[in-house]
Amino acid sequence: MKRKGLITVLSGFSGAGKGTIMKHLLEEYPGRYNLSISATTRNKRIGEEDGREYFFKTREEFEEMIKNDELLEYAEFSGNYYGTPKEYVNRLVDEGKDVLLEIEVNGALQVRKIFPDSVLLFVTPPSAEALKSRLVGRKTESMEEIENRLSISSKESLLMDKYDYLIVNDKVSAAVKEVHDIIECEILRTGRNSVMIEKMQRELALYKK
Ligand code: 5GP
Repeated sequence: MKRKGLITVLSGFSGAGKGTIMKHLLEEYPGRYNLSISATTRNKRIGEEDGREYFFKTREEFEEMIKNDELLEYAEFSGNYYGTPKEYVNRLVDEGKDVLLEIEVNGALQVRKIFPDSVLLFVTPPSAEALKSRLVGRKTESMEEIENRLSISSKESLLMDKYDYLIVNDKVSAAVKEVHDIIECEILRTGRNSVMIEKMQRELALYKK
């Protein structure tokens, strides 16, 4: 019997570079990871596509998803709903495939409750100043939205120690390797490999004197 898929949750301040890390992980390790695509009520940014970055929904559609129990977790962030479609994640985990979720802190803690075996990673830039300049530099949010996101970051920072690992995203290539290495090590933990352990114990029992 195969092991179940590992759920890795990546959270971090808005502008910390989670999206970039995810993009590199998918490109550098083709076929290795499966990224869950969330549903959201926020407006599509220039360059984004429905079904690629997000499933873009109206508030009514999103609330219908909540009512029909289609979401593994959901949260409100900066005035919009964001949530993880349940079916995709459950199916991949059952098939033994490893899944990546890029979600904010409240959603991450909900996932941890549902899947206590999940691994939680928090991404931060090296300083608050670097965070602000990244948000300003990417030119996707208004100044008001940037201030709002920084104030959310300030609250989120109080939950950083609830995570298993901290990734300081100074250099993207190093951060990507760290995330990949953590996942590879987590898969080898004895607690996740009881099937193999029991098999060896059963086979070796024949030699017991
Ligand atoms: P953005 O609007 O910048 O794409 O995302 C805003 C925040 O929502 C980010 O912190 C992102 O990780 C989070 N987010 C994206 N999808 C989900 C989701 O499905 N659930 C939760 N709880 N947060 C999400």
